[in-house]
Amino acid sequence: MAPIRPDLESLPAYVPGRAVPGAIKLASNEVSLPPPARVLAAIAEAATGANRYPDLSVTGLTARLADEFGLDAARIAVGCGSVSLCQQLVAITCREPGDEVVFAWRSFESYPIVTQVQGATKRTVPLDAEFRHDLEAMAAAVTPRTRLVFVCTPNNPTGTTVRRDEFECFLQAVGPDVLVALDEAYREFVTDPDAVDGTALLDAHPNFVVLRTFSKAYRLAGLRVGYALGAPEVAQALRKVGSPFAVSAIAQAAALAALDCRAELLAACAEVEGERERVRAALLHAGYTVPPSQANFVWVALGERTAPFAAHCLDQKVVVRPFHPEGVRVTVSTPDENDALLAAALSFPR
Ligand SMILES: *Cc1c(COP(=O)(O)O)cnc(C)c1O
Repeated sequence: MAPIRPDLESLPAYVPGRAVPGAIKLASNEVSLPPPARVLAAIAEAATGANRYPDLSVTGLTARLADEFGLDAARIAVGCGSVSLCQQLVAITCREPGDEVVFAWRSFESYPIVTQVQGATKRTVPLDAEFRHDLEAMAAAVTPRTRLVFVCTPNNPTGTTVRRDEFECFLQAVGPDVLVALDEAYREFVTDPDAVDGTALLDAHPNFVVLRTFSKAYRLAGLRVGYALGAPEVAQALRKVGSPFAVSAIAQAAALAALDCRAELLAACAEVEGERERVRAALLHAGYTVPPSQANFVWVALGERTAPFAAHCLDQKVVVRPFHPEGVRVTVSTPDENDALLAAALSFPR
């Protein structure tokens, strides 16, 4: 027998959204449009240098992000998707088996995986009755062993946000000895002015880090670029534990080009936001339970009918992401694709 850690046997595998040939994929929260032409050109150009290692320090993209956010470049760590940065966050905070990571549940499925991979202990706090983070309960769940807290807003998979005022109270309650990570993978889709914006809180809290990604609004899920904004010590530690050359030259060039196309990309997000309200209203009208979403997906709380609903959608050539027996997460896409989802939902026997 190879000396593999036995505890990995109980590790849940990340379940990717299924890709079914010929079906509409509403299972992975991607934007369904391809990258803009200018980004594709940057990718092609960068591909000519694929025989070389990429810039280890991600200098150009880091400088550009520093500029965009008005932050010192030392406060930015770029990673191979923000999922990788989640893993790096556990690695820089947790060393002993009893070190704890607190997060809401249900939330992003990577959190329990990266916690267990590092050999740390997870402490999950149920979402409240409105499918929102229960920040008071999360603050109460922090113990002297807690090293890291993940707060996901908008929350994947329920779409609900954390308000700025409640998050500031939460940071106060948690105190300076725990690293708090605000995962804002869907920030570009947020329209609620009361929702927290992590970038506005960075200067006041050195134990606070914001995660963003190019995978969703910036349409580069396949190229794997995310970044963390925080105190210089946090960013430096993240860079230390990241695997070298994890962000390819193609990914770096594409992300830079995508920032140049921001207006076009954000205009597409605005369309998704309109569709999100239309889809939710239609599902509510049909009698489904759908919390307000600020992301590019909606949560349909179906309980035990989760798996049958997903199977019914698949019969209609629409792939959704089931979390049986809680609910289904449906990515909001183009009007045509959303109509196909709505047709499936309306024909689901209830
Ligand atoms: C999609 C997503 C990410 C981004 O992952 P990448 O690794 O950057 O593709 C991070 N957090 C949440 C909650 C997500 O849903």
